[in-house]
Amino acid sequence: MTPIAEIFSIEEASKRFHASLVENELARHELEKLAHRDGLTGLINRRYFMLRAESELLRAHRYERSVTVGMADLDFFKRINDTYGHAAGDVVLKTFAQMLLDSVRQTDLVCRYGGEEFAFVFPESTVDEARMLAERFRQRFAEYDIRLPDGGLVRVTLSIGLADASRCLLEEALRHADDALYEAKHQGRNRVIVA
Ligand code: GH3
Ligand code: MG
Ligand code: MG
Repeated sequence: MTPIAEIFSIEEASKRFHASLVENELARHELEKLAHRDGLTGLINRRYFMLRAESELLRAHRYERSVTVGMADLDFFKRINDTYGHAAGDVVLKTFAQMLLDSVRQTDLVCRYGGEEFAFVFPESTVDEARMLAERFRQRFAEYDIRLPDGGLVRVTLSIGLADASRCLLEEALRHADDALYEAKHQGRNRVIVA
């Protein structure tokens, strides 16, 4: 090989090497995103939520800012599966998650906590402000006609529990929110209760 050809071939190899580095980096980024997300709804998963929520609360406590946490659970969801099938249930969960993402601020954290349960952190929000947001969303969702795979329409309600997290640890605040959620179920569902 002539020296010139050799230089060109080294340059080519270096370009290919660089391209594969970029590709690897993109793949790693995609994997990371997948690891943090729930496969069905695309919301962040519980594990990642706990990490992010913890740091949101730390920040709020350090700067003495308001922060509210919430738990939500779809009402009588088992009936949806029993009546329309599991695939229809999945569509309801996906629709719910999409409406949720469209309704919250970019800085709010929303996760699929498990099954048909969801958890939230509303930074810079008092419980009263979060209550208004949750109440608006509850009404909007309750009145929304969800299109099922068979073309039919269905409405589903949800119950929400909220708790002030500006002066307590994450686990404690979530427990309060969960108690409030339980109370919302107890009082007849389709409502928001503040701990
Ligand atoms: P409640 O109002 O008290 O919350 O009643 P519920 O029927 O919603 O509560 P229950 O805990 O009895 O039922 C929850 C159901 O959610 C049971 C489970 O099969 C269903 N579920 C959980 N995860 C999924 C999922 O990923 N897809 C579907 N289709 N169903 C799911
Ligand atoms: Mg549940
Ligand atoms: Mg439920």
